[in-house]
Parts: sequence; structure tokens; C-alpha cells
Amino acid sequence: MSLSQYLSKSLDTIKRANWYRQEKTITGLCGAIIDLEGEKLVNFASNDYLGLACDKRLMNAAIQSIQEFGTGATGSRLVSGHRQLHENLENAIASWKNTEKALVFSSGYTANIGVIASLVNQKDLIFSDEYNHSSLKNGAKLSQAQIIEYKHCNCAELEEKLLKNRHNYRHCLIITDTVFSMDGDLCPLPEMMAIANKYDCWLLIDEAHATGVMGKTGGGCLEHFEVKGENIIEIGTLSKAMGSLGGYVAGSEVLINFLKNRCQTWIYTTGLSPADAGAALKAIEIIQEEPQRRRQLWENIRLLKQELNSFKMSFMPSESAIMCLKSKNAEDAVKFSLKLKENGFFVPAIRPPTVPRSRLRFSVMATHKLEHFRRLKEVLNSYQNL
Ligand SMILES: *Cc1c(COP(=O)(O)O)cnc(C)c1O
Repeated sequence: MSLSQYLSKSLDTIKRANWYRQEKTITGLCGAIIDLEGEKLVNFASNDYLGLACDKRLMNAAIQSIQEFGTGATGSRLVSGHRQLHENLENAIASWKNTEKALVFSSGYTANIGVIASLVNQKDLIFSDEYNHSSLKNGAKLSQAQIIEYKHCNCAELEEKLLKNRHNYRHCLIITDTVFSMDGDLCPLPEMMAIANKYDCWLLIDEAHATGVMGKTGGGCLEHFEVKGENIIEIGTLSKAMGSLGGYVAGSEVLINFLKNRCQTWIYTTGLSPADAGAALKAIEIIQEEPQRRRQLWENIRLLKQELNSFKMSFMPSESAIMCLKSKNAEDAVKFSLKLKENGFFVPAIRPPTVPRSRLRFSVMATHKLEHFRRLKEVLNSYQNL
């Protein structure tokens, strides 16, 4: 079979399943209202929870960093790509997260892959939640450790499997999202921590959707649950509530020095761009100085839940800014998403293979208004039959 025959055939299969996806062009600035393919829509598809990605202060910080350092870091961090700006950003992350040190990566995805692969190998064991993000799953595969999946957030099953398998391996790493990105529920962090301690495991958590959202200062689920531990590796992204691009690891000095010497997705790639680093640094400052943004986000989450309370369709349990409405199948999800678009709302249909069962995924922002939720309710009500 020729390459193009193979590719077309694969795409046909994807299309028949209603799994085919394509990018959509948003024009102009991002925010609670966006211009999508010529239409003004209320945006429920953004991870920019605090509305910082188009904040003038972040934009100016990015411009200033470019003026000071140029557009590219020009090399890997260990060769020629390290600037004072990176150090300032890492210090700000460490101080916010209450860790000794932090390290920034080109993205959250590369941070997860690289960190997992550098921490464990064939002699070791990984326990992974079945709904973990793709980057955690692929990091686990790359590490060549034995991988055991456990049912979503099921600590009893995790413990049972630990009892059966832990003694056959050297190190054991438990990996989990804290806020599950396609479900919106939380990992039971205190219970996980107790299990990790009891069975001599390390716990690697992905705070991508928790940072800036959860906890008293937006520090994430560790702060929200007041969980601490020497055996925790905390990873997150600068690309969601922080409105920039990049990933980070926060932890002890010895962990960070180990990663600087062992983590291939940090060592062999170009340093974070000055614009991204400058914007992220400004975001951390704003998140700490303006807790009212996070308060407004949580008020909006409450308002949306209140509006949808009387609603007959089944929303999945959520304790974050992510709320999902179950669909019968991929076709329904796509149809419903199109209907919502016709009525002024941008709500993505999330389908396999991203999730096992199709759904509409709403993410709430601090910059949404009550009228957006009221109108959404009206529109949803008129399509109850779908
Ligand atoms: C978005 C996301 C990532 C990847 O972060 P990027 O910085 O966008 O690469 C990792 N983990 C989870 C849970 C995410 O939702």
C-alpha cells in the first residue's frame, strides 16, 4: 500500500466513526467572547481560566522581554539558552509553590514525558489512573517501566494492585492528574498520598488545570488539600491559567539538579522563549496580587452550576472549572456542539480517543458574565431532546 493510500484509508475510518477533527480559526484577541470564523461566540473552550492570555500587562511583559532578550533563547539552557529571566521565573514558581526550586520546560507535555522517563526504568513500576492525560501515559511508556492502570480515582483498586505487585520492583511511581482535564473531577490527593507513603512510592502529580484555580493562593490541589511530602513531584503548565506557554516542575533542589542532568526533554531542547517566560512571570505576579480573579472564577462556576441545576441532562460530577455534559455518542456530541455554535456558543465536542465516551466540555472563565450562563441555559433547554 502506498503512503497516501494508507493515510487516506486511515482518515476514512476516523471520519466514519465521527472522530475526524480539524482546527478552527479564531480571529483577534482571546477572551470570554471570541470571533470564530466570522461569528461572535461565547467561549466555553478556553483553558485561560483567569482571562490573562490577552491581559495587556502580560502582552507588554512579553514585548519587553523580546526587546531585552530577542525572540529566541538561541540554545539549550545548559549551553547558551539560559537568561536571568528564566531564573526569575523559576524562583517565582518555587516561591509560589513553596518548594526549594523549580524548572521550566518548553511545554507541560514535554515536562511530563521527560520527567517520568528520567525517574524510572525497566526495574520500576508505574501506577497510572486510566483517565490520565496523554502526556503522562506516553511518559510512562517511554520510561520502559512496568505500567499498571487503575480505575479512575479508585484508591481501593490501587492499593490492592500495590499489595500484589509492589515487592517485585525497585521504585514505584504513582502518576495522576489532580484536576482531570476531560472530566473536571479531582484526584483524592490525601488518600493517594497516604497510599504512596504506606507502600514506599513516589507520587507524580499533574496540576495543569489546578494551578491558578485551586487552593487559597491558586497554588493548585496540593494547596487545596494541604498535602505535603518529600516524595511528591509536582508538574504543571504555564499554558492554561497562566496564559502563556511552557511547563514546569516544582520540587526539592536535589530533584531539580537531577533533572538538569538527566531529563532529556529539558537538556536537548531550546530554552523557553523570552516572550513566553516574561508573560508567565507577569502572570504569577498578577495571580498572587489579584485573588479577586480566582474568586470571580469560583463565583462563575457556582453561577453556572446554579443555572444548570434544574436541568435534566446529565452533567458529570465536577469540582473544578471544567464541566462536562454526557452525549450518547460521537455523532450526537458533534451535532450538539454545532447547534450551540449556531446559537452563539463555542463548546467543543470531546470524543474518543481523547475520552472513552463522547461529551461536550465547558470550561468556565473568570471573565464570563451571568448573562452568558442564562442564555446558555435557554439554549440547552430548547435542545433537551437531543
Ligand atoms: C494541557 C495539559 C498538559 C500539557 O500542557 P501543555 O503546556 O499544553 O503542553 C499536560 N497535562 C494535562 C493534564 C493537561 O491538561
